[in-house]
Amino acid sequence: MTIRNVINAFYGLDGSNVQMTPETYVDVINTKNEMVEAELCAWCGTYASTFKDKQSKKEYSISGLCQDCQDETFKEDNVYDREGYPSE
Ligand SMILES: [Zn+2]
Repeated sequence: MTIRNVINAFYGLDGSNVQMTPETYVDVINTKNEMVEAELCAWCGTYASTFKDKQSKKEYSISGLCQDCQDETFKEDNVYDREGYPSE
């Protein structure tokens, strides 16, 4: 069970129609936390072990997204990929 399953159920994309309640929201958060603890991606369910930088690893602890899912999710506003990283 990934958060994608819960979200698909919520929007009826899997044929069911779950009522979103505060409990459902807590379920999503708990599911995400369990996945991160097991080092799995909360979205696609694959093993999430390699990240390209500290930033991505931190993002994983927040969202539970593996590197591939992060790249997919943030591709349109990854200004650093377009313009390069600012020098510190
Ligand atoms: Zn993933």
